[in-house]
Amino acid sequence: MSNSIHTLRISYRKVCGGYFMALVVLDAGHGGNNPGAVYNGRREKDDALALTLAVGRILEQNGVNVYYTRVSDMYESPYQKAVEGNAVGADYFVSIHRNASPYPNQYTGIETLVYDRYGEAARLAGNINARLVEIGFEDQGINEQKNLVVLNRTEMPAVLVEVGFINTDDDNNLFDERFDEVAQAIADGILETVKTD
Ligand SMILES: [Zn+2]
Repeated sequence: MSNSIHTLRISYRKVCGGYFMALVVLDAGHGGNNPGAVYNGRREKDDALALTLAVGRILEQNGVNVYYTRVSDMYESPYQKAVEGNAVGADYFVSIHRNASPYPNQYTGIETLVYDRYGEAARLAGNINARLVEIGFEDQGINEQKNLVVLNRTEMPAVLVEVGFINTDDDNNLFDERFDEVAQAIADGILETVKTD
């Protein structure tokens, strides 16, 4: 186990033009026997994975090193994910989820969770939210969550993006019809943060 993580640390940190490029963990929420929120057969784990892979492709095209906690429909605990992110020495950790409300179509908009609203993670969250709002999502803001493992056990700035409500039809329409722009928005928010370190 420690050997494979050691290998990851070496292989995921590439040098570009003599500079160490940022290493970002992209974490697709849920997976495997944990579907996350479900609405009319639509599963959060699937939305999260599709979007995570799309965001990752854009980051890689821009020279950012990406470590994925999963690239298929498998489950890993949030604690394992945080440990992996720490082991590969990531600069940022971005977990991608969909929100859910008690009743369908009750709320709308994006929200990014951070452990501390005044730190570097909040700067990353602000950049991501700003781009997502440009697409048309309502802004539910940057909110502190002290008890999420991927936020409180990660040693680097970490955010959890709730990309609209999975049980709100308007949010799903934006997610589906403008999927490429949603991925681009999250990637842009990350790139903006990484490049002004
Ligand atoms: Zn979730």
